[in-house]
Amino acid sequence: MDSFAGMLFLKDIAKGFLLTLKYLLFKSRVTINYPHEKGPISPRFRGEHALRRYPNAEERCIACKLCEAICPAQAITIEAEPTNDGSRRTTRYDIDMTKCIYCGLCQEACPIDAIVEGPNFEFATETHEELYYTKEKLMDNGDRWEAQIAANLMVDNPDK
Ligand code: SF4
Ligand code: SF4
Repeated sequence: MDSFAGMLFLKDIAKGFLLTLKYLLFKSRVTINYPHEKGPISPRFRGEHALRRYPNAEERCIACKLCEAICPAQAITIEAEPTNDGSRRTTRYDIDMTKCIYCGLCQEACPIDAIVEGPNFEFATETHEELYYTKEKLMDNGDRWEAQIAANLMVDNPDK
């Protein structure tokens, strides 16, 4: 009899509406209007790679190849030559982002924070080829994201 009365007065539907109203009027939203709104990300977030410069615009990378050696996916390819001032610089620094597993080991291995995984997570492409990153692309990423990368590294390790 109870279930018949419940059916007759649409008890379950009424309960559902009340629940909806409760969340609509009295609870804060748990969703965000992406891409216009973005949620917070950790300073340790492992996003798109970038090659950084020093504040005087000199490129940091000294072509020691530790990142290339440690990369478990063998995604990094480096070629290097000595420069006129006796230092070593890369002539080629490629990352095949289709192989990368975003483990962060390249960043960990780098003695001077030259290669980092920055905060950008919006780098989906339409073609496979666009994910073969060259040195130029990685340096551009570094220039574009330097302020946020430096701030994140400082939060993560203030003594550095
Ligand atoms: S994040 Fe990992 S897999 Fe990707 S390039 Fe760096 S070391 Fe290689
Ligand atoms: S990015 Fe860092 S670890 Fe890789 S070659 Fe340059 S200095 Fe060495």
